[in-house]
Amino acid sequence: MNIWLDGNLVDESEARISVFDHGLLYGDGVFEGIRFYNGRIFKLEEHIRRLFDSAKAIVIDMPWTHEEVCRFTCETVAANGLTDGYIRLVVTRGKGSLGLNPFQCPVPSMFIIADTIQLYPEEHYLKGLSIVTCGTRRPPPAALMPQVKSLNYLNNIMAKVEAIQAGALEAVMLNEQGYVAECTGDNLFILKNGTLHTPLINDGALDGITRATIIELAATLGIPLVEKSLTRYDIYTADECFLTGTAAEVIPVVAYDRRVIGDGTPGPVTRRVLEAYKDLVNRTGTPFR
Ligand code: PMP
Repeated sequence: MNIWLDGNLVDESEARISVFDHGLLYGDGVFEGIRFYNGRIFKLEEHIRRLFDSAKAIVIDMPWTHEEVCRFTCETVAANGLTDGYIRLVVTRGKGSLGLNPFQCPVPSMFIIADTIQLYPEEHYLKGLSIVTCGTRRPPPAALMPQVKSLNYLNNIMAKVEAIQAGALEAVMLNEQGYVAECTGDNLFILKNGTLHTPLINDGALDGITRATIIELAATLGIPLVEKSLTRYDIYTADECFLTGTAAEVIPVVAYDRRVIGDGTPGPVTRRVLEAYKDLVNRTGTPFR
């Protein structure tokens, strides 16, 4: 596997990061997960824009331009001979001294991996997922800006531990006020009386690229959609529910906290959105060759 690391494509065995890198020492850095389908990178511009915004928000001065990062990403995918897969693009604070001070890390590091991914077994796309609420809360926006896709995923990982220990593959995370924020690695949508609802970003959700794509698709499909604060009650009484994410794509949810959602099968609107999303990923994107 060829990895792009700080300006060079190198073999995986040569792709090494310093133990003094603050990305490793403190989770100080930002990243993106991006999909490519049929030789085209899906929503590349949007992901790179979010990467630059995340970096800016945590005061990482990117030494590459937006166009360069797009080009490096395309080069990495092309160098690995894949037509469908998943890209992990990571920017770390870079090498520094022991101690938090990020201003002692003069240059950020960037690496790009192009591989394959399957987040959930195929049967769950057909039959739907069972998810649970976890006790781990999302930190408030004043503690950790939810838009920043940072390397600090411990909050999500603790929530994922709870999900798995409860026999579920995903968990709903609430914020300090008890409103639904998102899942450990996916955004959440419900359908009630023909209208799609999704939590506000300021309730602690990542501003997901797939979430934004679904908001656009809903408009195209003529499905009303609102962004608003949701509670567990809203999910318990929803007609349909699904999760979205670059890796997960659109995945139906049919049970929540061991209660059945709707009739316990993926609903018609969920299936419509899922099909429209599949269609979109297969016909749009940036060619990388
Ligand atoms: N929330 C979290 C916490 C995530 O890590 C992700 C990405 N895996 C998402 C939501 C979905 O975001 P996107 O659609 O941009 O992949």
